[in-house]
Amino acid sequence: MQKSHRAEPYKIKMVEPIKKLTRSERERLIAAAGYNAFQLKAEEVYIDLLTDSGTGAMSDRQWAGLMMGDESYSGSRNFYNLEAAVQQYYGYRFVVPTHQGRGAEHLISRMLIRPGMYVPGNMYFASTRLHQELAGGIFKDVIVDEAHDPYSTHPFKGDVDLLKLEKLILETGAGNIAYLSLATTVNMAGGQPISLGNLQQVRQLTLQHGVRIIHDMARVAENAYMIQQHEPGHQHKTVAAIVKEICALTDGAVMSGKKDALVNIGGFLALNDQGLYEEAKNLVIVYEGMHTYGGMAGRDMEAMAIGIAESVEEEHIAYRVHQVHYLGDQLKDAGIPVVNPIGTHGVYLNAAAFLPHIPQVQFPAQALTVALYQEGGIRSVERGILSAGRNKETGDHHYPKLELVRLAIPRRVYTLAHLDMVAEAIMATFKNKDNIRGLEMVFEPKYMRFFQARFQQVQ
Ligand SMILES: *Cc1c(COP(=O)(O)O)cnc(C)c1O
Repeated sequence: MQKSHRAEPYKIKMVEPIKKLTRSERERLIAAAGYNAFQLKAEEVYIDLLTDSGTGAMSDRQWAGLMMGDESYSGSRNFYNLEAAVQQYYGYRFVVPTHQGRGAEHLISRMLIRPGMYVPGNMYFASTRLHQELAGGIFKDVIVDEAHDPYSTHPFKGDVDLLKLEKLILETGAGNIAYLSLATTVNMAGGQPISLGNLQQVRQLTLQHGVRIIHDMARVAENAYMIQQHEPGHQHKTVAAIVKEICALTDGAVMSGKKDALVNIGGFLALNDQGLYEEAKNLVIVYEGMHTYGGMAGRDMEAMAIGIAESVEEEHIAYRVHQVHYLGDQLKDAGIPVVNPIGTHGVYLNAAAFLPHIPQVQFPAQALTVALYQEGGIRSVERGILSAGRNKETGDHHYPKLELVRLAIPRRVYTLAHLDMVAEAIMATFKNKDNIRGLEMVFEPKYMRFFQARFQQVQ
């Protein structure tokens, strides 16, 4: 893709000023934040690449949709618009709104997992696995080996390893498998897509054994775009058509609307099975709210319904992925170790290769997030040993093969010029990498420790 050949497919009608502090201010602030960028105030950040979750800019049509909010307690018109959008663009029959993706994860985990059951998945995601474990499930990684190799250029690193999955089914018995938890795209592998060919084979195998597929569809449009661009035989299809094809190969879905669907808050659980839907409809009242709002305001359901339609527009999705590749290609050209291929929602730095002098127990990826903030006011997130958490049985850290820093690009927020600033800061950090020190954790919360953990620098 030529860097200069794609410009923003929108114009800007409202702006939010941002400002860059001095280096000494940033050094003081990150130390006070316990060397954890999650603990910074957003205003202390110049370019915020912490996450692409809920950080996107809504369109004028979505803002107009907010004004059409019907805040009736029950049966809000916005719910029916959301339901219609999910049916039209994703093809699932039933929809239960939730406050965000993890609300849906909670419901499906409670409904389908019994203690001791296995939940295979194409790599884990922190909140997804946590809900599976809280319900008594045991997560099993069945992604292809290439996904754990930052140097592999496999174009579909989100693919399921059919042999691993079949082995698990045969060993444990299909009755002990709650469902296959299948993500499009795979966040922890670097925003890597799954191919349609692989998904079709996975579907065959799971149908043979009567195992359900629950689709973690936060970035399904991005995944569909990668299929359209890179999987032979799909170039003539629209992204919208591929999205529907993917969904049709699964039995239900958990959705974080804060990703693809271009809203700042919201999510849903989608199902095809009426019996399960009845159960979810009842359960959602306990934990989220009535089944026609599930923890969302009417106006937010309206914005999500509109965002779903916008998310599959060709111009939108092509530019969205282009921005990510624009940054990734610059870094690759400069010799910075990044995960290959470049994913769809962010660029992942290979912290293990960036900082080979820092052992994994000293949190090299977390140390790199600190250095990037000190250098350029850039906020990024650790995706390595800190995010991986601890083994429930042994209490020791999980030691993931990937020790990464994610630079997630919010949708429709920054321009290519901002991304040039990010690239410059990373290159300057790379030049000074030998001066970066490891970290020691001095406070560790029980759940999803990366949000609130505190550190000090190793002397
Ligand atoms: C964000 C995300 C979730 C959880 O959704 P929330 O809206 O943050 O609760 C689940 N899976 C994936 C792949 C995600 O990216």
